[in-house]
Amino acid sequence: MTIQRQSSFQSKETDNDPKTGTLFLVATPIGNLEDMTFRAVRTLKECDIIAAEDTRQTRKLLSHFDISPGMLFSYHEHNKTASGPELIRYIIEGKNLALVSDAGLPAISDPGADLVALAVREGIPVVPVPGANAALSALIASGLPTNSFTFVGFLPRERKSIQAVLAPLRAAQGTLLFYESPHRIVKTLSHLQEAFGNRRIVLARELTKRYEEFLRGTIDECAQWLEEHPPLGEYVIVVEGESLEEAQEADSAWWRALSIAEHVAHYESEGSTRKDAMKKAASDRGVAKRDIYNALLEE
Ligand code: SAM
Repeated sequence: MTIQRQSSFQSKETDNDPKTGTLFLVATPIGNLEDMTFRAVRTLKECDIIAAEDTRQTRKLLSHFDISPGMLFSYHEHNKTASGPELIRYIIEGKNLALVSDAGLPAISDPGADLVALAVREGIPVVPVPGANAALSALIASGLPTNSFTFVGFLPRERKSIQAVLAPLRAAQGTLLFYESPHRIVKTLSHLQEAFGNRRIVLARELTKRYEEFLRGTIDECAQWLEEHPPLGEYVIVVEGESLEEAQEADSAWWRALSIAEHVAHYESEGSTRKDAMKKAASDRGVAKRDIYNALLEE
């Protein structure tokens, strides 16, 4: 592998190598326009091109901050394969491009990451212009541990794929962060309950907006609340990681997936006599040695 080194320091943001442009990833507010940063406004004013997930939405934002874009391109999930290489060509030709998403940090739960990967492959400088982000805003106000966390974003749609994403997260000890729309949140809570049990969660809704709300409780309690108060607005679901007790219980029940014969064979393979192996299996399962003996005869 060849190391690629990029130094982003510039005296003026758009004042770098005149031959190649720069890809700026510009955060925009997730609801409250006061969260737009001075640097975001300046970068959007100075860039030659703005690529936006939803150009209509972005036009409103630009007009609010008195920004008239040189060129406004659309870059979203359904045109990224064609639009991505075209945008990269402009940057290679020397244009500075600002990528914005609908809201928040570009490249988080939107196709921005693909454009960044293309840019990095071409050796184009990529400069983040940070700002609002829904997941981290929800996490810091959740009251759940922030020292370690996993951002999951949107779950897939199909039940099997959902289970495939959630199963390995069951043993994650850090806090988990999900994005969800109001239409699917109740269903998603039932998937989380099925995968993790009745853990503590926080539903963070309409962050930075007038009706911002945090609902803290167990999955069951929050699901019950949503039955009585139909969900409205955008949600971040913050889920407590696996507790020490859950981890200990999972550790001590390592044999659950084994048949009784496999359980006994496991201890024998570790050097126990058959008699001792049966005794250990009986003790793990909290049953009498005779039950193990009978089960072995039946198996
Ligand atoms: N790029 C964005 C970011 O940095 O947070 C996320 C974009 S993602 C396409 C949209 C999802 O983010 C929403 O469905 C919701 O789950 C979450 N979200 C965005 N704005 C939010 C807000 N104001 N309050 C709660 N969740 C929000």
